Amino acid sequence: MSSTNQYTMRDPVTQYPRPPFEKQPQPAPGLARDMKPRPDHGEDSYVGFGRLKGRKALITGGDSGIGRAVAIAFAREGADITLNFLPEEEEDAKEVLDLIRESGVQVHAVPGDLKSEAFCNTLVETAVKKMGGLDIVVNIAGKQAYQETIMDITTKQFDETFKTNVYALFWICKAAVPHLPRGATIINTASIQAYDQSPILGDYAPTKSAIVGFTKVLGKQLVDKGIRVNAVAPGPIWTPLQPSGGQPQDKVKEFGKNVPLGRPGQPAELASIYVFLASQESSYVTAEVFGVTGGHPLP
Ligand code: NAD
Ligand code: MG
Repeated sequence: MSSTNQYTMRDPVTQYPRPPFEKQPQPAPGLARDMKPRPDHGEDSYVGFGRLKGRKALITGGDSGIGRAVAIAFAREGADITLNFLPEEEEDAKEVLDLIRESGVQVHAVPGDLKSEAFCNTLVETAVKKMGGLDIVVNIAGKQAYQETIMDITTKQFDETFKTNVYALFWICKAAVPHLPRGATIINTASIQAYDQSPILGDYAPTKSAIVGFTKVLGKQLVDKGIRVNAVAPGPIWTPLQPSGGQPQDKVKEFGKNVPLGRPGQPAELASIYVFLASQESSYVTAEVFGVTGGHPLP
């Protein structure tokens, strides 16, 4: 591990690579290992202090991007983890699973497709069984496929984007709630797209608005059970979601240029807020959405 960690004081403007980037198309869902430059998920820098010691966390989308950064951070903070990803992402997942094991916590890999309600139920049941309970549910998996106009969005795509981003969230939360003890937390992943929609994300942006709405409803509803529910709304983050069809390659070249910080965020820059929302440190925070946007604030 390098001597630099998440607490080392640095200039956020120059801390990470800035555009222009190379065009780098890959088929969806894309692999972090094929990105140029490779994203920083905190592999060499995140230092934990036992902030989630003994907790049991389920994380979706955990092979790459924000999910990988969260999985590494949670493991180093002492949480056992059940990690979900797509079977075709095995190569990325293997790197994360090795890193988690190095932290000395338990990890269970449960690959599978969240578009299936039956699989979402199995995922939650497996997590509960393997870890002996469930305290933290982190919904990070998501699908983003840009299309220039509404005429280019097929019903199949619309359906798959909503299944992955919204229905899976509903299915996983519904399956998890009966198992969650008082003090448990749910963290969802929205987007700046819930508030400032790009015209080429006609199916994706509305799913993110739905996630914001769902988070607020569930947060208010589950107070009675002592369960907190929050969401993180990232701005442009350097992950395989973008070059694998999330954006046109011309926009990948310029990715992050239009936010005040002038660069994309790295997955590592999201990890700490998920740790905060998962831990008891955030005990008075629920039904809330947190922007991590490089200076493009949520309204
Ligand atoms: P990513 O590609 O690294 O992660 C997305 C993950 O979703 C994939 O790794 C995959 O495991 C999972 N996934 C997709 N379809 C699935 C399915 N049918 N079943 C199971 N898993 C599936 O990219 P990321 O940017 O880290 O994305 C994580 C979350 O962050 C997503 O919800 C995304 O919408 C959100 N987000 C990303 C950005 C950004 O600029 N990268 C901005 C705002 C929000
Ligand atoms: Mg992935």
